[in-house]
Parts: sequence; structure tokens; C-alpha cells
Amino acid sequence: MIKAKKKFGQNFLKDESIVQKIIQAMPNDDNMVVEIGPGLGDLTKKLLLQCEEVTAFEIDLELCEYLKDKFSDEIEKKQLELVCDDVLKQWGESSLYAEKYNLIANLPYYIATNLILKALDDNKCQSIIVMVQKEVAVKFSSKVGDRTYSALSILADSISEAELLFDVGAECFDPPPKITSAVLKLSKFTNYENLFESQKEIDQFKSFLKAAFAAPRKTLIKNLGQIAKKEDLIKEFEDLGIPLNFRPHQLESEKYHLLFKNLK
Ligand code: SAM
Repeated sequence: MIKAKKKFGQNFLKDESIVQKIIQAMPNDDNMVVEIGPGLGDLTKKLLLQCEEVTAFEIDLELCEYLKDKFSDEIEKKQLELVCDDVLKQWGESSLYAEKYNLIANLPYYIATNLILKALDDNKCQSIIVMVQKEVAVKFSSKVGDRTYSALSILADSISEAELLFDVGAECFDPPPKITSAVLKLSKFTNYENLFESQKEIDQFKSFLKAAFAAPRKTLIKNLGQIAKKEDLIKEFEDLGIPLNFRPHQLESEKYHLLFKNLK
């Protein structure tokens, strides 16, 4: 009997109907499938019934031994590649996988936001279906005007269609987490890579958004006052038809991109 380890964010999904709903949400395409944190392999098992090949990254060596045994046939047939390592180490600065892939996972919550941001930046990753803390799913999928619309919503909205698919109660896991979870789906637009010229520009855009949302209740123009001159900001806001009293959550992502480019 393997005990869940808190340090690896282990809450095993026990509700078969939720596993099935995640599988049903998968895009119908030829992309490879990558899973982060297969755990006891319940989701992996269903993925293997559906997909030709799956690559899974698991940090916990005890679980890895269990998975090697459970999926010995699939590993031998090369239907499953099991990478026993920290996925963040494997990711490094480039792509997690050499071919186009869809990411499916019940993510460890302690690094979920970081992993979604890495997958959004990874050009090989075409779609992301992940179970995360509900709060994180809301942040990534909020729309302009929502109080919860944030820098994360804009990053997701700029390059993908973002949807919170459904909530998942704590009772569906073993051990049950203290929070509600939700399944988030981000389907990247085709040609989204053309939005930025380089990784440097993406990083600059992220810093720009950090300044824009520094004090979410203050006006956007006041927040951006940290990084640009007031007279330049007033001119750009007027040119783009942005009301000077707008708060950060009221501006759509397209206008954030225009402001960013014009102020650079
Ligand atoms: N997929 C399983 C399920 O749905 O029951 C387990 C999900 S559990 C929330 C998260 C899994 O991610 C655990 O198996 C944990 O060991 C693994 N994990 C945590 N940190 C990781 C990391 N940095 N790299 C790879 N796997 C990691």
C-alpha cells in the first residue's frame, strides 16, 4: 500500500466518472499525449486505452517502481514512456517534448501555476487539460470585466481559448485536499506563436502585466505610472479609446497588447 506524500502534492483521483470526464474533454487530433504526475496510474490507464502513445513524468521513485510494474506491457511495447524525474528539470528552457503534444494531468497543486505557464510558453504544447485548485482555474479562465480577471487570464486569453470545464469536490480524492478543485482546458489558437517575436518579448509582456495589476483596485493608468511617463500614458489611452478611469480588470487582452507595443 503506497502512502500519499504531501511534499509531492499527492492527492489521488479516485472517482472514475471524473477520470472519464477528463478523457472526454481531450481534443480529437493526432498530437502526442503528455501526462505530468501519473501517481497510481488511474488516469494513465484510461489514456492508454485511448491513445497510441503516452509519455508520463513522475518525480516519486516509489510510485515509479509501482508504475513500471503496473504498466510493464505498455512500457515494453513502447506505448508508454515513463520518465522518472522532476518534470521541471526535464523541461529546462526548451520544449518538454520533441513533437506537438497535448498535456493532460491532475497537477500537483504546489507547482500548478508554474507548470501551466511553462506549457503556455512551450510551442510544442497545443492544448492543456489539467485538474488544479479551483482558484487557479478561475484565474486562468476569467474574462474581461470579471473581478477575477488577472495577468494570468490575459496570458491565457492571448493565445488560447480558456474554459473552466467543471468543479471537482474534495471527496473525489484520496486523501481529500482541503480545497475544491476544477478542470481547466486551454486550447491554443493556430499560429499563436506569431504574437511575440521572442521569449524576451514574452518576458517583457509578463513584467508589463505585473505592473498593470500591481494594485488591482487602483486605476490602470496609475499602476502603469511605475513604468511609463504619465503624459505618454494619457496619449496612448486616448489614442486607443481607453477610459482614463479604467481598472486593470476592465481592459480586454487585445488592448493590453496594443498598449504594450505602443509603450515599448
Ligand atoms: N495523476 C494522479 C491522479 O490523478 O490520481 C496523481 C495526481 S497527484 C495530484 C500529483 C502527482 O504529481 C503525484 O503523482 C506526484 O508525485 C507528481 N509530482 C509532483 N511533483 C512533480 C514534479 N515536479 N515532477 C513530476 N511529477 C510530480
